[in-house]
Amino acid sequence: MQRRASRLHFEPIEKDFAIPALRESRTTAGVTFAARLSFENIAHSYHGKETLSGLSLTVEPGEVLCLLGPSGSGKTTLLRIAAGIEAQTSGRILLNDREMAGPSVFLPPEKRGIGLMFQDFALFPHMTLLDNVRFGLTALESAAAREEAMHALARVGLTHYADRYPHVLSGGEQQRVALARALAPRPAVILMDEPFSGLDSRLKDSVRADTLAILREARATAIVVTHDAEEAMRMSDRIALLRGGRLVQVGSSDDLYRRPVDIFAASFFSEINQFSGVVEAGRVETPLGRFRATGFADGASVDVAIRLQCVQVESEGAGVPARIISRRFLGVVDLLTFAVAGCDQPVRARIRPDGVPQGLRDVALSVNERDILVFEKAAISD
Ligand code: ADP
Ligand code: MG
Repeated sequence: MQRRASRLHFEPIEKDFAIPALRESRTTAGVTFAARLSFENIAHSYHGKETLSGLSLTVEPGEVLCLLGPSGSGKTTLLRIAAGIEAQTSGRILLNDREMAGPSVFLPPEKRGIGLMFQDFALFPHMTLLDNVRFGLTALESAAAREEAMHALARVGLTHYADRYPHVLSGGEQQRVALARALAPRPAVILMDEPFSGLDSRLKDSVRADTLAILREARATAIVVTHDAEEAMRMSDRIALLRGGRLVQVGSSDDLYRRPVDIFAASFFSEINQFSGVVEAGRVETPLGRFRATGFADGASVDVAIRLQCVQVESEGAGVPARIISRRFLGVVDLLTFAVAGCDQPVRARIRPDGVPQGLRDVALSVNERDILVFEKAAISD
């Protein structure tokens, strides 16, 4: 199998500060002066098909930004444009206000000081870990390259494996070597394309936490691509949500979760029941009740989103009559589906198992008005 690795090399930007190791076996000094990376009105197309359009985004120095979006939304393309292995059709890329790519400039990858860690981070199987990490340090003479590579291995706590080969490492350790290789040239910005997608789920949490700690200690500006909203919430200072090559929303986890700008953003962060309706006298009628729709004119078509955990089940009393049609045990919560009059698809809810007695069939559903999200009807939906 052909292995792939970065052939980029960079000038060292700054020497490590001599601060004592904060964690037993890892070096923890900053790698670089963190840089600001800006995308200005980026457009891109493959064979006439638009993949990115009107995309403007700034990643602040030292910030970890998660680029989140479904498959095919343009995440990898945006990283490739930033790294200089793909050219945008229009717009500019700036690093600390210096134009790296634009109408009249195109710096090649090795001149950008941007490190890229591919989705498939394959190490070279026939090279020691030290040589794997040293691979991109071609601008340095041999002894200096070795020293820098050992530094990078120390950063991920793996100096004791320097002379071993990749096959002796676990998946999580291989991922750390790949991170060391990306950090070794001391890039001003590091771009990581779905770095955890190849790891099994038990490993993911700890590798993710380690990676974040290493990025923080290196004081690197980082863009981490993921299609997993929870992963983005765990790792990022901010999230940029992409759909169909356009930026939908940028903000903190809290902003995106609590104040999604549209039904797509809402559904990306939690499972929802979705209803359509028309606003009348400031309210919209749904199968689960008539809710406030502030800020919409009468006659406006809207989408209403209700998160699964916001649907309450009452065994008696006020609420919309519903019949339980399925119930699935998921551990902390049960997933229930209900038939509700006037609703052609089942209503779903996540309920604590003790919230609804087993064997119950006919119940009443209620939703707190403050949990209702109302959006202008989306022009496209999927
Ligand atoms: P993501 O990383 O979010 O999954 P990509 O950036 O890989 O998305 O792809 C964005 C769009 O560009 C998709 O529609 C994809 O099919 C298309 N695309 C990606 N790479 C190529 C290529 N080499 N040639 C033609 N189309 C491509
Ligand atoms: Mg991709």
